[in-house]
Amino acid sequence: MRGLVLSTKELAEVDWPELAAKSGINTIGTHITPSEVAAFMASPEGKAFRRKCRKYGITVEHQLHAMGELLPRELFAEDSTMFRMDSCGRRTADFNCCVHSEKALEIIASNAAKFAKLLRPGNHRYYFWLDDNAPVCCCPFCAEFSPSEQALIVENRMLRKIRKQDPEAKLAHLAYSFFMPAPRKVAPDEGIFLEFAPIYRSWDVPLTQEDALCPRGYPVSNGDNLRWLEENLKVFPADDAVVLEYWVDASLFSRWKRPAVELPWHPDVCASDLATYAGYGLRNVTSFAVYMDAEYFGRFPSTAPIEEYGQMLESFRHFPHLNDPWYGWEDATKVSFCRSAEALNFRFDVNDSTLTVCRGEGERTVDDSDRAELFISCDPEMKRYYGFEMDPAGKVMDYRNSFYRQFDYGWDSGIRPVSTILPDGYRVEVSFPSGFLRSAGIEPDGPLHIGLYRADATGSGDIHWFTLVDPHTPEPDFHVPASLFDYF
Ligand SMILES: [Zn+2]
Repeated sequence: MRGLVLSTKELAEVDWPELAAKSGINTIGTHITPSEVAAFMASPEGKAFRRKCRKYGITVEHQLHAMGELLPRELFAEDSTMFRMDSCGRRTADFNCCVHSEKALEIIASNAAKFAKLLRPGNHRYYFWLDDNAPVCCCPFCAEFSPSEQALIVENRMLRKIRKQDPEAKLAHLAYSFFMPAPRKVAPDEGIFLEFAPIYRSWDVPLTQEDALCPRGYPVSNGDNLRWLEENLKVFPADDAVVLEYWVDASLFSRWKRPAVELPWHPDVCASDLATYAGYGLRNVTSFAVYMDAEYFGRFPSTAPIEEYGQMLESFRHFPHLNDPWYGWEDATKVSFCRSAEALNFRFDVNDSTLTVCRGEGERTVDDSDRAELFISCDPEMKRYYGFEMDPAGKVMDYRNSFYRQFDYGWDSGIRPVSTILPDGYRVEVSFPSGFLRSAGIEPDGPLHIGLYRADATGSGDIHWFTLVDPHTPEPDFHVPASLFDYF
């Protein structure tokens, strides 16, 4: 899934299906409440939206803040035991419900099924969120269960009911705010999928900067979010999970107050985060883009961030390991790349517990160090190609080359990778601006011929070689066209 989540206001005012199609987005999630979205979908604007999505092949789903409508608050007067107990022992209709109330669960599930029929998604994926940033029930029964466990009790019940009318139905378990810690005492039914929405993180830097704190006063770090993701992925399958991000959410960066500020778009952060999520096996990604309505584009006309976000999702590739065709060694090094109109981005997460880094002067010392290696060729025959060999300390040995091994080490690309030493290896991130690629004779939007490798220096002069593509040479040698792969 390459998605966007938009409220009915944006969808009514802006031709989002056209912009999404142009950007490579394949799924639009409507938002905010079930009744609001149902009214929109039945309106002339909603019908036009649906028609355009059909024309462009865009899947429509509905990501809904639902609890207030699934258990109407008026029912409190009739039976307060359906509603949550606060920490002082009083029943209250403010948020959520009492998951110990059979009657509450039945009403919630029936209303979810009713809205599910009215708002049928194109992908069988349903989203009926609880009051996810609000307290849950503290009654003696419910107090035994964490917020995410209480949510899962309700979600399991809703899904059973929805499946009676849509047997392929799947329902989101939203990990967000208080609901971030994974459920333990309650297991998800088959068909409940994880929706991971890291609302409390920093978007100035990638998730890999684990000590970065949420800038909005919450003592939560990027690393805390990753730990929560890891614990949730022990409970929910990764291949069905969806990331709900905020990279292009003007409403978040406006602190949910209009008029909206201009989106602070960080493509490098998005590219790195995509690699992080892919490393966990996540395949479905969407982002809020709320507040990007007619008024927003009137003041900030550029659609470039949306286009770039979509292009990066569409071009994103992840390779979970490299190979050693000569000795058959296994290598858990992960490589990701993606491109947009602005840049070509790579990330290597090298698995290597014995780092060898040669600290001497000059870039040729990289020859004796552990390193991630990248070739970009102008053509499939390697008539002209460029090599970037990048060590764990951030040093790069770059050269221009032509087949066979006509090295020009004097060439300097000016490209500066960022390396980070990790407990089990090192990470290298490198970005090639489109202007650089063009000046090097590579059309950034055209077919690319890429080689991905790594060298593991043992420190005693020996080097082990790993590659994505087996070049079928008798001895390790990457400087042959057969070691490249084509990316279109
Ligand atoms: Zn309760």
